[in-house]
Amino acid sequence: MKKVFERDLKDELHEFIRDFGAYKMRVVGVDKGFDNVIEGCHPTDIMTDCNSVIVFGVYVGTDYYRSIKIEERITKDYRIMHLFRDWLQYQVAEYLKEKGYRTIIPRGVFREETLTASLSYKLAAYEAGLGVYGRCGIIITSEYGPRVNFGVVLTDAILEPDSKLTKFDPCRECRVCVDLCPPKAIREDLTPPKGFDRNACVNFILKLREKTGDKNFLCGYCYDNCPIGKTSKQGFTLSRYRTLISLEPHERELLLKEPIVSG
Ligand code: SF4
Ligand code: SF4
Repeated sequence: MKKVFERDLKDELHEFIRDFGAYKMRVVGVDKGFDNVIEGCHPTDIMTDCNSVIVFGVYVGTDYYRSIKIEERITKDYRIMHLFRDWLQYQVAEYLKEKGYRTIIPRGVFREETLTASLSYKLAAYEAGLGVYGRCGIIITSEYGPRVNFGVVLTDAILEPDSKLTKFDPCRECRVCVDLCPPKAIREDLTPPKGFDRNACVNFILKLREKTGDKNFLCGYCYDNCPIGKTSKQGFTLSRYRTLISLEPHERELLLKEPIVSG
């Protein structure tokens, strides 16, 4: 049976999300995207009646890692930088719920044993056409390079799917991150993201943490220096976080539960 898309809803959602500071929203359908994921990692493994995967991007700026430290002084919690994105997912889920749709916010929690996340946010962003995999294993967007946090919401609403990007190939003539990466975790001779050695990256960061005694230390050379979409425009700001902490306690409690299911 032919699907009837909720076109107005998609436009409304886009506007709603942009009002909160996300720069773009796109949709993946569950019939075509996520073809090669392993069992348990498909959107319909998480929400059996899922029809659409909503993916949005928030520009976080080149001061992303420094911002963590500013937050850390206040909260001693690394997760705070992701809370804004999580909170926005929660807002989208509530918006849809009020219109009578079911939603689930998946968790892209990385599992060491299988080297997978139950629903990879990177894969969702790639499938939605928000960006493509870069040499350093991160999704590179045309707007802001890798300096974007993605949010994902699953819903039973039938939204028109977008396509993957086919003409965007940012790494083809670039090797900036290959040259900069201190432990040489990024290779040039393999198609992204195959040339990224996650273990080498993580081990380097862990060693530096040991040496500096800073358990929140991150490297981020590849992240900050990727020339694609580099701009001086401000990214995530503390003022947005202040909106977040003004949430009612029960809203914050909901936010920290996983996964959030409504409807
Ligand atoms: S720095 Fe260059 S090679 Fe590395 S991810 Fe960005 S565009 Fe690709
Ligand atoms: S975060 Fe640092 S160590 Fe890891 S891949 Fe990027 S540049 Fe290399």
